[in-house]
Amino acid sequence: MIVVMRRDATQQNIDQMIKQVESLGLKPTVIRGTERTVIAAVGDERGAANAGMLESGAGVDEVLPVLAPYKLASLETRSEPTVIRAGSLTIGGGTMGVIAGPCSVENEEQIIECARAVKKAGATALRGGAFKPRTSPYSFQGLKEVGLQMLAAARKETGLAIVTEVVAGEDVDTVAEYADVLQIGARNMQNYRLLEAVGKTSRPVLLKRGPSATVDELLLAAEYILDAGNQQVMLCERGIRTFEAHTRFTLPLATVPYLQAKTHLPVVIDPSHGTGHTALVPAMARAAIAAGADGLILEVHPNPAKALSDGYQSLTFDQFAETMAGCRKVAAAMGMKM
Ligand code: PEP
Ligand code: MN
Repeated sequence: MIVVMRRDATQQNIDQMIKQVESLGLKPTVIRGTERTVIAAVGDERGAANAGMLESGAGVDEVLPVLAPYKLASLETRSEPTVIRAGSLTIGGGTMGVIAGPCSVENEEQIIECARAVKKAGATALRGGAFKPRTSPYSFQGLKEVGLQMLAAARKETGLAIVTEVVAGEDVDTVAEYADVLQIGARNMQNYRLLEAVGKTSRPVLLKRGPSATVDELLLAAEYILDAGNQQVMLCERGIRTFEAHTRFTLPLATVPYLQAKTHLPVVIDPSHGTGHTALVPAMARAAIAAGADGLILEVHPNPAKALSDGYQSLTFDQFAETMAGCRKVAAAMGMKM
């Protein structure tokens, strides 16, 4: 349930309510909106049997049940859009964020060259995997901490915020030391201990949908991060597995308006993994913006034919610049700042 405080509620009223929520065995999360403060009280709803007593608390306007299974992610709990800010990157609340870069960090020259090119074309953050979750154990697994150092060098060079994946709980502190945004990959969407671990950091999280997960499962995965204390979560649709074979995955753009009707968290689309074909990426990037997406994540490589991972879906620098030009037109039509 949520406890909606009155506009004139004092900090003392809020502190008092936090204690009352705790006394019911529920966990309070304070959500400060521009208009008023809401205290989400989540946990075993049996503890909520005495919830009626909260209504009489000082400074309380009303107590409402949250019907969605995901409580903190729900629009019922927070009606204002969550805006993610991490260095050069802003996503949400009418601002399009564009995260671009190679699938994997391969060497310092590659990542710096890439960072310069995507920045010039208008990207607002740099992506690049240092810890790579690969389908085969024989594929390139990433440069790990050395790769993170190269990403940090690229940030120093260009000022772009760094988005990079963390694949294991034991690496969270190391990755968070270098990254501006922690990416949780599709394969780890339901690794609940990892979600809790990133939920305890102060870094925003880009949570990708598992290829076989439902959208409600994605929202519940996000809930783990929010419940652990980190309110800075972006949801990413990167395609799901279907019977269709002409694309690597099937990219369902209906996810965007569906999520926007359910959650305040920003929605990012990944047309690179979503299609698996460079030629299909620009149109799907434009379509994502037309569908209302808050951000894009795109794979870009100086020489896709030589890429150590995902070259077949990566854009060249020129293709990325062209894609951005097309996207800007759609963003303008949608009233989005880009
Ligand atoms: C990636 O972003 O390179 C990646 C591995 O993505 P996903 O987890 O969506 O497969
Ligand atoms: Mn990739």
